[in-house]
Amino acid sequence: MRKPFIAANWKMHKSVAESVAFVNAIKNKLPDPDKIEVGIAPQAFSLYSMKQAAGDSGLKIIAQNAAAEYSGPYTGEISLRGLKDLGASYAMLGHIERRRLFGENNEAVNKKVKAALQMDITPIICTDETMVQKEVNDEIHYVFQQLMSVLHGVSLDQIKRVVISYEPSWAVGVGQHANAALAEEGCRMIRRTIADNYTYEIADKIRILYGGSVNPDNIKEIMAKPDIDGVLIGRASLDVDNFLKMVNYA
Ligand code: PGA
Repeated sequence: MRKPFIAANWKMHKSVAESVAFVNAIKNKLPDPDKIEVGIAPQAFSLYSMKQAAGDSGLKIIAQNAAAEYSGPYTGEISLRGLKDLGASYAMLGHIERRRLFGENNEAVNKKVKAALQMDITPIICTDETMVQKEVNDEIHYVFQQLMSVLHGVSLDQIKRVVISYEPSWAVGVGQHANAALAEEGCRMIRRTIADNYTYEIADKIRILYGGSVNPDNIKEIMAKPDIDGVLIGRASLDVDNFLKMVNYA
């Protein structure tokens, strides 16, 4: 039984004060953490204050990015050691916006994934594809290649600890209506890739999230799909009422 995971990706929104106020507004209204996991990925400077505000509510704090190196002369980077220190549970790695806007490639994401696992921070490994790849019916090949590249050198034991997300580029950040059938297709493809390259037992246990224009109106339909264990929500997660509707969808 895979525990559902509802994760907010706040991107470059909200100040520290707004982030803490949000946590205070939701923390007593979250579902039972034994049944549903809820997490938020704020901007890096809000991680610590949010962790403090979350207390023992069960709310997970997620980093939007992290460096492959733990410390050293890497101006502007976010250290996994620092994330561990402040109590972050997860780090999102290889998000489509990191790839599209900041030139992250599979090799860089792979290094980050291995560094996170080493530091005991659970990576949320983001995969994506474009409409062109889909239209030329190359998506299986493309997502397969991307996933296997970022998982290069990740052991049987380590793969059990990762979360994977599937975020088609045509649905991310555009507020378009997410297509639950296409979302399921992508997540199923990822599960099959894990089964083929690791084991069926692991593929059956690993959590796969869908991201791209998830909102209070479509979350039920998306979460009802058999291979979708959770969602990464951008725009619709910024509002307290919307967020609470989505985490309590069940
Ligand atoms: P969106 O973003 O929900 O605004 O499409 C999703 C994401 O980027 O993770």
